[in-house]
Amino acid sequence: MTRREEIENNEMLILASYACKSRDSLGREYAEEQDVYRTDFQRDRDRILHTEAFLRLQGKTQVFMVTEGDHYRNRLTHTTEVQQVGRDLSRALALNEDLAESIALAHDLGHTPFGHAGQDALHVMMQQFGKHFEHNEQSRRIVEQFESPYPDFPGLNLTWEVREGLLKHTPVYDQRGKIQKINTMEAQVVNIADEISYYHHDLADGLRSQLITIQDIIQLPLITACYQQVLRKYGQDLSTDILIKRLLKEMMHLLIMDVIETSHTHIKEWNIRTLQQVKTTQNHIVSFSDVRKKQTRELAHFLYEHVYTAPKVQQHTEEGEKIIKHLFQYFYDHPEKMLPEHAQKVKDGIPKEDVVRDYIAGMTDRFAIEQYQTFFPRQKMKAIQLQLISE
Ligand code: MG
Repeated sequence: MTRREEIENNEMLILASYACKSRDSLGREYAEEQDVYRTDFQRDRDRILHTEAFLRLQGKTQVFMVTEGDHYRNRLTHTTEVQQVGRDLSRALALNEDLAESIALAHDLGHTPFGHAGQDALHVMMQQFGKHFEHNEQSRRIVEQFESPYPDFPGLNLTWEVREGLLKHTPVYDQRGKIQKINTMEAQVVNIADEISYYHHDLADGLRSQLITIQDIIQLPLITACYQQVLRKYGQDLSTDILIKRLLKEMMHLLIMDVIETSHTHIKEWNIRTLQQVKTTQNHIVSFSDVRKKQTRELAHFLYEHVYTAPKVQQHTEEGEKIIKHLFQYFYDHPEKMLPEHAQKVKDGIPKEDVVRDYIAGMTDRFAIEQYQTFFPRQKMKAIQLQLISE
């Protein structure tokens, strides 16, 4: 028996009956021999981790520009935080950690430079052609077409479960993303791990940048509960730094525990026993309780008002949108100015707007700024230029 088969047997013993077992995967589009010591989902994780798109996550903005400081999140650190929460939740719910981990690592591969500003700008540009831009779909294109390390098939040839998890990933902030039913609990876990992670780090980054204060956030019902808990545990005499860390850790713990308990309640009340039932059950099994759902919505609203649309962040948002729109138009008019492998795609007959979309979506903030400075040397760049100089 191979080590992989041993692990697969262990999954049958350890994981819940409704978990997605590696052995039950619907498989890959192109037939491949199985690995000796890794399950299919573990193998998917390694394939994702070694892509160029994954490397570029470190150069992409989450909320604060990647040049802002060393202690702000970027897409890569956000991704690893989602991976951690996703694994913890999966383990606690006896789900397949490897599947959740693979989906988590790939969930933001399709994000543009400059965070949501980049996505919005690309969407606007694509609308001129009766098309749209969505980072989930871009993640799928990356793993199915652009990252092609094999001679015998395009893409990474990931399992159906990982690809499905990517396409159905619909963060709550994504207004355009229609909420779709997610067919495995592991992918449901990643969706909520994403949410928990950015509540946590956007509060931390917001506090660090002094856009918000502790006094502001303890007014929020969710944080009030955490604050009382921290006071009970550690007393009043905490330094600001430790208070922030304990407070945010408490919030993370509270939300994770809430998801575990609520999901268990759903499993029991809805009598979930098989993966098939997970697929056919109308509602998501992995979710917050109604109380926490309401409180997280209030928190999301607070973050939107005081962090995402704060003048300091907004300035970058507008600058990022401007850069993306200018670059899109420029490369559409001058496709030969793209890197050769992209320019070639236009010659091969792929619609120009699609090639330009993929080219720009793949850029890091730094590369997009460099390209902008090269092709628009006279354009002034307020905030972003200053940061490049201070790098
Ligand atoms: Mg995310």
